[in-house]
Amino acid sequence: MGETKPVGKKQKFIFVTGGVLSGVGKGISAASIGAVLQAKGLSVSIQKCDPYLNVDAGLLNPAEHGECFVTIDGAETDLDLGHYERFLDLELTQKNATLSGKLMQNLIADERAGKFGGKTVQLVPHLTGAIQDAITEAADGADVHIVEIGGTVGDYEGLSFVEAIREFAGRVGRENCLYVHVVYVPFISTSKEFKTKPAQNALMDLRGFGIVPDCVIVRTDTPAPDSVARKISMFSGVNQDAVVLLSNASTVFEVPMTIAKSGVHDAISQFTGNIKKPKLAKWEKIVTAHTAKHRKSVSVGLVAKYVDNEDTYISVLEALKAAGWQEGVGVDIHWINAETANKKDFDKVDALLVPGGFGGRGIPGKIAAAKYALEYKKPYLGLCLGLQVAVIASARRAGLKTANSTEFDADTKNNVVYIMEGQEGKESTGGTLRLGNYDAKLIRDTRTAKTYGATKVTERHRHRYEVNQAFTDAIEKGGLMISGTSPNGKLVEFVEAIDHPYMLATQAHPELKSRPNRPHPLFVGLVRAVKR
Ligand code: GLN
Repeated sequence: MGETKPVGKKQKFIFVTGGVLSGVGKGISAASIGAVLQAKGLSVSIQKCDPYLNVDAGLLNPAEHGECFVTIDGAETDLDLGHYERFLDLELTQKNATLSGKLMQNLIADERAGKFGGKTVQLVPHLTGAIQDAITEAADGADVHIVEIGGTVGDYEGLSFVEAIREFAGRVGRENCLYVHVVYVPFISTSKEFKTKPAQNALMDLRGFGIVPDCVIVRTDTPAPDSVARKISMFSGVNQDAVVLLSNASTVFEVPMTIAKSGVHDAISQFTGNIKKPKLAKWEKIVTAHTAKHRKSVSVGLVAKYVDNEDTYISVLEALKAAGWQEGVGVDIHWINAETANKKDFDKVDALLVPGGFGGRGIPGKIAAAKYALEYKKPYLGLCLGLQVAVIASARRAGLKTANSTEFDADTKNNVVYIMEGQEGKESTGGTLRLGNYDAKLIRDTRTAKTYGATKVTERHRHRYEVNQAFTDAIEKGGLMISGTSPNGKLVEFVEAIDHPYMLATQAHPELKSRPNRPHPLFVGLVRAVKR
């Protein structure tokens, strides 16, 4: 293993772990620290280590784990990578998502290939060594590399990661490592007090694994008094200045500013030797746009299967918000349950959005939404599955009553969406989708090309089925035209409605490329189409 791999001398590593419970904003904290470092002029890279045994996040239930975020090179990852991209404006890759399953798979393959020369293969040092190698690789020459460890410290499955980041200090020097622990402090409403005990125990657990944190971020639902920080400082031995109280923010993009004002900033300034004041204008602008009182709001109906589950559609929601901030309007999301969706639901909103999805549940409602958008000229944005249901709706309008995707009706003769030749037989396993960046050429003067302001675009994909171009005539007769394809013309990448205020759909996931300060043009287009 590569225990002796050289590491750039001055490179700094920040490790973000969590205690008490997960899902309280460790990812946002890690990303916000990165944003502050960038604002101080440092280059930053970032990585998520997930201790569960999945090889990637592709087959995880989105209702439980949230959205599956896809990188440019096609890694199916945890939604935290989406936060990282939005906060740091980076395009991450496979190496920024490290999962136990992937590392173990490689280790076992190496063992089978006889690469260990008779040694006993063990979690320590082999898995911990592989984790450290993965960290070194992802660090990629940046001034500061941030590593977030998923789950909470003490979880059985995460122990190798905690041990690996402890050992890492031996590799690169303790002075080049900063450990940040994010804990949750609940407010007990009956006694009206914040309870720090679980956080104290979580810090004790971390110390038990040989890591004394340099900073503690204390998450609370409502603002907590300084006495909470004092108590945590006393019980953890962490200087009170480095214990930061972070209550829920009105927008997550406020967190970099909170971090910049806090003791964490002093700690990272000292740690990196960079004492510059961070330039936070970008974040100030976003927060101002977010808190502005709008004269006008637009409503977007999100026709979805996992209703009310924001994490499942987080990048879509962030892209809509960002478009609203740029356009100076509020965007109200109306969740429309795809399983019961009908005309009454569609009537109530200014625009419809059908996001990505897999499987047959809720498909009739999504097709109905697309049909409604075509017939009533309601602005519509279709993302991946949202394109496929639009194509089905259009072909059905043209008289092909059984038009369908073979994903939902394997035997339909009118397979307007299907698995292309050469792709069959790969339907049931993970990692067999069209994933990551693909180029597309757009037809000049279409609304799609005009909305992008370009005729060549690159977008990220995550899907298996494609539009069947044998049905182009029927699709056009029903009201849609193909406005963009793969460079060789074989794959349909974009469709748009003919003679319609704004109905655009893409086989890709443009939401993944949207940034809070640079919303994606297709989302801006939707918001513009409805703001009057
Ligand atoms: N289920 C569809 C496919 O596999 C769409 C996938 C998606 O929306 N990401 O092609």
